Amino acid sequence: MKTAIATVSISGDFREKLAAIAAAGFDGIEIFENDFLAYEGSPADVGKMVRDHGLELCLFQPFRDFEGMPEPQRSRAFDRAERKFDLMNELGTDLVLVCSSISPLSLGGVDRAADDFAELGERAAKKGIRVGYEALAWGRHVNDHRDAWEIVRRANHPNIGIILDSFHTLARKIDPKSIRSIPSDKIFFVQLADAPLIDMDLLYWSRHFRNMPGEGDLDVLGFMRAVAATGYSDYLSLEIFNDQFRGGSPKSISVDGHRSLVYLMDRVRREEPEIAIEVPEMPDRIPVSGVEFVEFAADESEAEELGAMLSALGFERCGRHITKEVDLWRQGGINIVINTGHEGFAHSAYLLHGTCVCDMGLRVKDAAATVERARALGAQPFEQAVGPGELKIPAIRGVGGGIMHFIDEGSDLSRVWEIEFRKLEKADAPVNAGLKRIDHVAQTMNYEEMLTWLLFYTSIFETGKTPMFDVIDSGGVIRSQAIENAEGTMRITMNGAENRKTLAGHFIAESFGSAIQHVAFESGDIFASLDALIRNGFKPLQISPNYYEDLDARFGLDDEMFDRLKSGNILYDRDDNGGEYFQLYSPIYGEGFFFEIVERRGGYNGYGAANSQFRIAAQKRLLRPKGMPRM
Ligand code: MG
Ligand code: MG
Repeated sequence: MKTAIATVSISGDFREKLAAIAAAGFDGIEIFENDFLAYEGSPADVGKMVRDHGLELCLFQPFRDFEGMPEPQRSRAFDRAERKFDLMNELGTDLVLVCSSISPLSLGGVDRAADDFAELGERAAKKGIRVGYEALAWGRHVNDHRDAWEIVRRANHPNIGIILDSFHTLARKIDPKSIRSIPSDKIFFVQLADAPLIDMDLLYWSRHFRNMPGEGDLDVLGFMRAVAATGYSDYLSLEIFNDQFRGGSPKSISVDGHRSLVYLMDRVRREEPEIAIEVPEMPDRIPVSGVEFVEFAADESEAEELGAMLSALGFERCGRHITKEVDLWRQGGINIVINTGHEGFAHSAYLLHGTCVCDMGLRVKDAAATVERARALGAQPFEQAVGPGELKIPAIRGVGGGIMHFIDEGSDLSRVWEIEFRKLEKADAPVNAGLKRIDHVAQTMNYEEMLTWLLFYTSIFETGKTPMFDVIDSGGVIRSQAIENAEGTMRITMNGAENRKTLAGHFIAESFGSAIQHVAFESGDIFASLDALIRNGFKPLQISPNYYEDLDARFGLDDEMFDRLKSGNILYDRDDNGGEYFQLYSPIYGEGFFFEIVERRGGYNGYGAANSQFRIAAQKRLLRPKGMPRM
């Protein structure tokens, strides 16, 4: 498998783009003319610079409005093509993309277009150039790859082939199976892009919302299976137009792009085992059953504050690490670790972010295989010195620089709490609040990084994504989306902030990009939990009384339920099937971290999206005004 990316897909000047693309492991680039028009070197210099980065210039694009023109425009189109052929020879590339005409002057007719391409093929052959024809989804006469292929077939010239683009095929809902009958030697190039399903003008959708395969909702896998079935084994190239990517980091977008292609081809190989596909061997996506622990980095005084909050939540400090300044807090199946050590990763995370979640442990089917797969997909393994009596637990770096450890069920690793931690005597233990497990972990990020995280989780683990929805904060919109396993035991919610006036944005800005903003615990009975919490001195986040009036209007609650929710500051949601969700929040800690307690009834599978706005308003009232000392 050879991989490429169009230079238009990422931000930066031409040199920055090449460096980022080469570092991410791509073999080639598609060059957009505009991309080097601003560059001061000659076309030959540009070509050399590309090759000096170890990249092949595999496609020149686009050449527009060629076929079906009446005279004198027809002759002019051929003259224009000849000039581009000369330019391509200077650059050192032999394949040009001609996209189907959108000119109002162009005339329809398959044979007319085929004749034009036959003649263009003759002229191209004299200059050692090959021409690939692509059907734009909004082409005037040709907007379907099946028509483009018929034109190429009738042109019947060795220098004329078809270029397939997943977006153009899938956006028009054309069955990709129709690709399977195209001979592979007539497929000159394949471009890949995904997109979220949005009902809008095709051109606008394509120009602004394309994303990497696996990041959107299109059946890029089905498309690629059909391409692979033809025997095509040349370049797979990302052609992504996306406003976020243009504003994002060229490096991380290049890494995502390469990961998306490796992940896609890994899936194709598993779906089409009889086709030989060149992609690194790796274990299949890893089943993950939940969050085994979260680890906080803190200094001593903040650890005490955090411990007081955990105590109020019914957690018991029950273990001390055998060699490190690390405490284990437990309740039900929930493990929370507070690390106040002065060395290692946790300490550097503390220095950078302040008190924060620096590490998360996931329960997986096979920890070693997880690292192997993550590595094949371009993630960085993480290792730090293992002390005497400690276990070596496989780990990788997450997207934001945090660490993720993997614990496989049933192995020695799952006994880490007994092996590495000394039991502490029961002192005045708090009242157990009946919290059973971690329901979800919520990560906050800049909106540009959301797709990066999404691809990271879904490519490594056997998880899926929920549709994206908007949460309204008085300071702006937060985009929210969740990653879940099929059983609902592993849930990560992702919140993308566009500006720092939102609570999420404030949290990112003030904690220097720390990723985990809240951890939600599952209760089997939220009212009983609340009673226990109150006995422990817990003060829930105060919710506006107006919220409850509205809730009553929406759901028609009985009086007793209404009173219990309102007096307990418990938020409520109900789905179409009668599933119910109860939520209770802690006050915010530091710059916006908090805990949540939830109860799910009757198969409720969401996160109380309708309530987020009210919860955020209540939390924002607690944020210290700018310039005020921390309380
Ligand atoms: Mg294209
Ligand atoms: Mg939540």
